[in-house]
Amino acid sequence: MAELSRQQVIELDKRRVWHPYTPMADYIAHTSPLVIQRASGARLYDVDGRSYLDGNSSWWTAALGHNHPRLVAALTRQAAELCHTSLAGVTHEPAARLAEELCGVAPQGLTRVFFSDDGSTAVEVAMKMALQYWAQNGRPRRRRFVALDGAFHGETLGAAAIGGIELFRRVFSGVLLECLHVPAGEAGYERAFSALEALVRDNADELAAVVIEPVVQAASGMRIYPPELVSRARAVTRAHDTFLVLDEVFTGYGRTGPMWAASHAGVAPDLLCTAKAFTGGMLPMAATLASERVFEGFLGAPERALYYGHTFCGNPLGAAVAREVLAVFREEAVLEQARSKALRIERAFEKLARIPGVESARSLGMIGALDLSGARGYLERAGWRVYEQALRRGAYLRPLGNVVYVTPPLTISDPELDELLGIVQDSLSAVLEPPGA
Ligand code: PMP
Repeated sequence: MAELSRQQVIELDKRRVWHPYTPMADYIAHTSPLVIQRASGARLYDVDGRSYLDGNSSWWTAALGHNHPRLVAALTRQAAELCHTSLAGVTHEPAARLAEELCGVAPQGLTRVFFSDDGSTAVEVAMKMALQYWAQNGRPRRRRFVALDGAFHGETLGAAAIGGIELFRRVFSGVLLECLHVPAGEAGYERAFSALEALVRDNADELAAVVIEPVVQAASGMRIYPPELVSRARAVTRAHDTFLVLDEVFTGYGRTGPMWAASHAGVAPDLLCTAKAFTGGMLPMAATLASERVFEGFLGAPERALYYGHTFCGNPLGAAVAREVLAVFREEAVLEQARSKALRIERAFEKLARIPGVESARSLGMIGALDLSGARGYLERAGWRVYEQALRRGAYLRPLGNVVYVTPPLTISDPELDELLGIVQDSLSAVLEPPGA
C-alpha cells in the first residue's frame, strides 16, 4: 500500500538516494523518475496506476515476468519456515536440491555449485577459483585473465578488471588486476577470436582463465557474435590447459533461445556464472558452477580450501525461489513457448532496420536490438529520446547509449509483445521522423 504521493517519494529520493549508473546532479535537476508501486507479468505499474510494459525485464532479471504466482508462493512457503541460516557447516534442503537440479540442467561436466549474491560475485568467485586453483596446483605463474573489449562482467574490482568498457574501467585502471583485452566488436569478432587464440597460445603459462559472455556482449550494446567463436575459445583453452569461464549472467535461462548460450556452441566451460534470471529476478542470488577438476583442486590440506563466502550464500529464500524457477521452466515449457515470440522479435527488428536513422538491427532469442545512426558509446543520448517517447506510450525501454533494445520476459503474451514492438516502432518514428520534418 502506497502511503506517500508520487511527489513525496521523489522528494525523499532526491534528498537521499544515490542511483546506480546515474549522473546525480542532472538527475536531481531534471529527471522525473518513474515511481513504481507494483508489477505483474510483463507490466510495471506506477503510483498513479499507469502501466508500462517492462521492455528489459527490469535489468534482465524477470524472465518469467513479475510476481509469477508460483514464485511468490514458493517464497511465502519458504519464508514461513526458514528465511536464512549460514551455509558454513550447515546445510538445508533448498540449497542442496537447487545445486542438484542446477547441475542437471547445466552444460555437461559442471558438477559443483558455489552460491553467492549477484552476477558480480558469481564472476568474482570464478576468478578467485581460477587463481587459487593454479596457485596451489603447480602453476603459480597463471595469474592473468583474457577477456574481450566491450565485455561486461560486473561491478566489483575483480570483475571490473576483466570488464572491457572503457568508461566504466578507466577511473580504476591504476588499481585493477591484470587482464589482456582482445579488441572486439564492429564485425571484428572473427579477428577478435583469432587474436584471443594467439594470446592464449603465446601466454598460456601465465593465464588463469579466459572469461567471455557467450554469443552476446550485452552491456556493450547487445552485440551478437557467432557461436563457433565460443567453440574456438573452448578449443584453444583446452589445448593449452587453461580455464574457460562463461559468464551466463545475462544469457542464461533462455534469453538467447536455449537454456544456456553455451548450448549454441555445444560447449561446456570449466566455470559458469549465473544470476539475474536465476531467481526469476525476485531475490539477489547467484551461482558459480565448477567442473569436478576445479573442485578437486581445492581438496587436501585445510589451507587448500576456498576461503570465500558471502553472508547470504545459499540463502534459503533465494534457493527456494530458484528451484521454483527451474520447475516452471520444466513444467511450463518456457523455452519452447518463447520460440514463436523470438520469431516475432526477429521479424519486427528486421522491419525496424529499414527505418531511416536506424543504422543496423539484430536479434537472437528474446533479444532485439538496434543502433541509431551516429556515435557509439554509453553516454550517447539518442536512445534516451526513444526512451522518453516509449514511456509516454506505456513501455519501459532503458537504452544502452544509442542502442535501443528489448529483452522482455520470456513469458510475455503475444498481444503484449506486439504492443511492446509497436511502441518501439512508434517511439523510433517520433524521434527519427518528427512530424513536419
Ligand atoms: N555479467 C554480465 C554478463 C552482466 O550483464 C552483469 C550485469 N549487467 C553482471 C555480470 C553483473 O551482475 P550484477 O549486476 O548482478 O552484479
